[in-house]
Amino acid sequence: MRYVFKDLNQTWDLEAFFPGGSASPQFAAYLDSLESDTEALAAEVAGGKIQGALAWADRLTKIQELSKRLRQAGGFVSCLDAQNVNDRQARIVGGRLGQVRAGFASVMTVNDREMLAIPDGEWRELLETGAMAPLAFNLNERRERAKEMLPTEQETLVNALSVDGYHGWSELYDLVTGRMSVTVEEKGKTVTLSMGQMSNRMSDPDPAFRASLMEKWEQAWAKEANLCALALNRLAGYRLALYKKRGWDSFLKEPLEINRMSKATLDAMWDTIDRNKDRLVTYMRRKKQYLGLGKFGWQDYGAPVGKAESKMRYDEAADFIVEQFGQVSPRMSALATSAFRERWIESQDRPGKRMGGFCTSFPESQQSRVFVTFSGSLGNVSTVAHELGHAFHQSLMNDLPPMAQQYAMIVAETASTFSELVVADAAVGHARSREEKIMLIDDKLQRAVALLMNIEARFLFETRFYEARRKGVVSVERLNELMLEAQKEAFADGLDVYHPHFWASKLHFYSTGVPFYNFPYTFGYLFSAGIYARAKEERSAFEQKYADLLRDTGRMRVEDLAKRHINADLTKPGFWQSAIDSVLSDLPEYLEMTKQSR
Ligand SMILES: [Zn+2]
Repeated sequence: MRYVFKDLNQTWDLEAFFPGGSASPQFAAYLDSLESDTEALAAEVAGGKIQGALAWADRLTKIQELSKRLRQAGGFVSCLDAQNVNDRQARIVGGRLGQVRAGFASVMTVNDREMLAIPDGEWRELLETGAMAPLAFNLNERRERAKEMLPTEQETLVNALSVDGYHGWSELYDLVTGRMSVTVEEKGKTVTLSMGQMSNRMSDPDPAFRASLMEKWEQAWAKEANLCALALNRLAGYRLALYKKRGWDSFLKEPLEINRMSKATLDAMWDTIDRNKDRLVTYMRRKKQYLGLGKFGWQDYGAPVGKAESKMRYDEAADFIVEQFGQVSPRMSALATSAFRERWIESQDRPGKRMGGFCTSFPESQQSRVFVTFSGSLGNVSTVAHELGHAFHQSLMNDLPPMAQQYAMIVAETASTFSELVVADAAVGHARSREEKIMLIDDKLQRAVALLMNIEARFLFETRFYEARRKGVVSVERLNELMLEAQKEAFADGLDVYHPHFWASKLHFYSTGVPFYNFPYTFGYLFSAGIYARAKEERSAFEQKYADLLRDTGRMRVEDLAKRHINADLTKPGFWQSAIDSVLSDLPEYLEMTKQSR
């Protein structure tokens, strides 16, 4: 490895945007002008209809200008919040920004309605004019979505009622699960654990401990199953009733639309996954044998294998990432270099920081900031790589109109997962011992099980549950049956013990943000893997295609994106097969290395 970095500063530079942190006078003034400009635009939009290409161009420029400034402010607030959870002033300025955002959202609703009122012919002409043409995809999408909604007064009523009649059920679920606890025996002591603590312990190296946790876990959820089933039934019932009123016949319409993808793509992805289950089952059988387990349960596929986790210093990690990025894309590598040097990354391991990692962008400054807590594990290295992938993605979109930068969840993780794959592959090659190599490969393979089997079980369950819910309330017993069937099918009977109350324990089923919060994970994972497979094949010729693809993520449907930039048809199995082959490429080596059990 080349040594490029020495004594990197591990705190980020926020002074470049607004000096003085949460008490920054410059930021307060920025919020003032954001507030008054949003009010002015709201008054303008409420003041009556506009006509003609020039007036529309002016309106859209104002809207986009504001949305850009809102993102700039939003980036600053999330950085302040994350770097010090005790910063009260950060929450105050965050609250102010929230108000401005709500005001902006109303502007957008009124504006969408106005676009909808324009006759189709006139609309098409407008979209051909200079200022609007680059936004044609996004404007059309907004208009089409507005068309599918109920009349405004009814949608307003729906929104008002949803607070108590919809979101309230999700809050009830949070309340119930938040106060649940389980008493277990841990290393000879009796301890009481919250459900969150318990789920962290589920990856304990001791299989007997894991199995006993799993048993208690099932029992605990069984006890609260009636309440959970009530919430789940009401949430689904609410959605189905609303869809029916809007005239939507499929419950997949909304999640597919949000993600700009077709049902044919979704089907092709799952069908190809199903045809490759035998390799995942082979992996699980071998893991069972290698770990010397009598039974292989739900809690075992993600169990740790191997040990000797290497540590890396931060400077070393930076060298490693920059070098590995360079193997696939000099531009990615250059971006990472400046991110490390110019203090785009907050990585210091200190108390008072928020958990987790993220990347946020400052579109007015054309810069991003990455938040992680780096303690030297390989997992930390891959988190840094992941977040830098997001920064790279943003850097390619900086000069596009703000509206054309808004990508769907399903492609949001393309660049980040890609970066992670690059680093994970390299880490296997650099493993310092046999044990460590087994651990790193196992890590990749268990991730494949999670994304191709566990998530599929969620999707199968949710689909069948919605079918059943159309005919009436679904009982706890039936929910358990549906879940068990879904798991057996998704895991191709590869487990000995399943988790029938998974429908109660998984938060995602109760989230009111996005319905079917499952398949986008699998799509994102395989989409990146498929692109990564191409990158390895085409080497340097690939970089430009990759950059162009990322740049268009905010203004194309996924099928068009793949067709145009990598000539792949997502509605056919070919691309998905190559993606699966890529994520399972280490399997033969794993099987070779784990022939003898430990
Ligand atoms: Zn991410």
